[in-house]
Amino acid sequence: MPNSLEHSQNSVVNYPNQLHKLRTKRLLQIIGLTLFGLVLAVAVASGTTKWVLVAGCFTLALAGIFAYQRKIITATVVLLWAMCLMLSALAFISGGIRDLALLGYPGVLVFAAMLGNSRLFFSLIAFMLAFCASLTYLAVNGMVVPVIPTISAAHFVFVAAILLVTGVSVYLLYRDQQRLMSNLHAENHRVKQSQAHIEHLVLHDPLTALPNRISCQQHFQQLYNQCLTKAQPLAVLFLDLDNFKPVNDSLGHAAGDLLLQQLARRLENLLSEHDILCRFGGDEFLLLAPGFASDEALAAKAEALLQQTTAPFYIMQNQIEISGSVGIAVAPQDGIEFSEICKHADMAMFQAKADGRNVYRFYHDELNKASIDKFNMLQLMRKAIKQQEFQLYFQAKLQLSDKKVIGAEALLRWPQPDGSMISPDDFIPLAESSGLIVEIGEWVLQQACLACSRWHQQGYDDLTVAVNLSYVQFRDGKLEQQVQQALSAAALPAHALELELTESLLIGEGDNIAQQLAALHQLGIRFSIDDFGTGYSNLGYLRRFNASRLKIDKSFILSLCLSERDEPLVRAIIQMSKSLGLKTVAEGIEDSATAAQLALLGCDEGQGFYWAKPLPESDFLGFVSATLLNESQ
Ligand code: C2E
Ligand code: CA
Ligand code: CA
Repeated sequence: MPNSLEHSQNSVVNYPNQLHKLRTKRLLQIIGLTLFGLVLAVAVASGTTKWVLVAGCFTLALAGIFAYQRKIITATVVLLWAMCLMLSALAFISGGIRDLALLGYPGVLVFAAMLGNSRLFFSLIAFMLAFCASLTYLAVNGMVVPVIPTISAAHFVFVAAILLVTGVSVYLLYRDQQRLMSNLHAENHRVKQSQAHIEHLVLHDPLTALPNRISCQQHFQQLYNQCLTKAQPLAVLFLDLDNFKPVNDSLGHAAGDLLLQQLARRLENLLSEHDILCRFGGDEFLLLAPGFASDEALAAKAEALLQQTTAPFYIMQNQIEISGSVGIAVAPQDGIEFSEICKHADMAMFQAKADGRNVYRFYHDELNKASIDKFNMLQLMRKAIKQQEFQLYFQAKLQLSDKKVIGAEALLRWPQPDGSMISPDDFIPLAESSGLIVEIGEWVLQQACLACSRWHQQGYDDLTVAVNLSYVQFRDGKLEQQVQQALSAAALPAHALELELTESLLIGEGDNIAQQLAALHQLGIRFSIDDFGTGYSNLGYLRRFNASRLKIDKSFILSLCLSERDEPLVRAIIQMSKSLGLKTVAEGIEDSATAAQLALLGCDEGQGFYWAKPLPESDFLGFVSATLLNESQ
């Protein structure tokens, strides 16, 4: 196919040049032939006729020179006018309107039509008609008496010369025309072929040969119009592979490509008669399913897509297993525009991913509402980062044995224009899923270190600060550097900083978390395990990560004095962590009874509204100095 494209480009480029050459050649041939005819005629002619023919020969030779110099138009004009005038002169001096020479007129006109332009043609024909009319007028009115020559062999030579010159030339020109036409036809065919090829390229994905996104939109429009007339729905199933990137990363792009090709063939086998499968993007496929029988039928289709995706692939001697998530939206109920229906299928697909992957989900209005809320929130959060709207509050941590404040946990606050606060529980998950937490987390680290450094400067040099970390902050591998910078900018010793990590973060294998934690530990930073008891509650890995504190989740502490269930659990956690050499911290202490009981159970430290809520820095320092004052009294 590319050859035909190249070929057609070449011929398009050379076409006028070739035509010019051919015309020059034909012109020279016609001049040569006519000259030959004239020379023959000169040989048999006599008297004035001979001289007219000789003059014709010279003018033709001149036209030949022009043709040789590739001045085609000049050569054509000279040739055809010379012939026309010569034939007219011959007729005038001899038989007038009845002269044989006029036989040459049609030939001249054929050449003019084929070689010259329309101006030349029409001026020649006008001249010929006017001349013939004049000849007739002169003869009819007796002003000129035509000489009727007696027939001689010369007549045959004249007729033969005229017939041969005209006939052969017309034959040559006609053949050229035919060849030109068939060339043009072939050219046309090639252009059409390359057009179809380009169209295919534009509308298909080169890797899988499936229709691409552009073509998908066209198919959607067509199918939707058909469905409209039949009052049928049109479903859009959006398949996104769940773990395709690791295949590319570990086995290379060639393996990833093969996998996509194999998957495309498998999915094609699932198609019903009117279904259309498209490759929408990197690892996204879109299935347009018109006129399905029921939601169950659609669900079965989605199941089939998932099944084909999860079945193992054998690529380059590797068995590869992936999975996919499918989102389903149906036109017209979920939208009628292609972009809208795709967006909704995409949202449903995201829901499928959020629901644990390898499942399908139907789009419903709640998804849209939730996503609009999230979208607005995300916009607001970006603005809040830029305009430094976030604040850091500090909640005191106390030693349970002597109620001494040992430090604070830094907690993020997002004040609103109406004076309210958005809870971190409400915006941190979104900050995590959007990646904004990396920026926010860095700011928290910096501010927490600066605050703690200020406390030290004010004489509270035993106070430590605890900062909550999200798993997302470990992803780009810059955490160690960020921590180091925050410490040095605040001139804070590393042991004054504590990082609070959740269990789930420690269990995850990826992102070199163990390595990053080891590096941070090397700096002298301490870790505590947050929300202990809500997750895996596996103490084995706590040692591996050099955690020094365990924070018992507030859900157990809040009901410690109310529920009989919690006491044994809290007791067990405290005992276990002691045996591992870890300190225990209870968070969510709201009353003195709970504080007293925890002290009895051997819990080391506590944090809760009983003593202090999370407070702005100055209020926190007020609380610290007040407790010190109480102690000294
Ligand atoms: P967390 O780390 O478990 O923080 C303790 C939460 O318990 C805080 O909620 C605190 O206000 C609350 N709390 C403390 N004492 C009591 C009490 O006596 N009773 C009750 N009912 N609650 C108490 P907050 O400040 O709303 O923070 C919620 C969560 O947001 C935090 O839970 C933490 O997971 C996250 N978070 C807060 N700040 C940050 C941050 O800077 N970075 C990250 N990654 N997460 C943060
Ligand atoms: Ca915490
Ligand atoms: Ca906690």
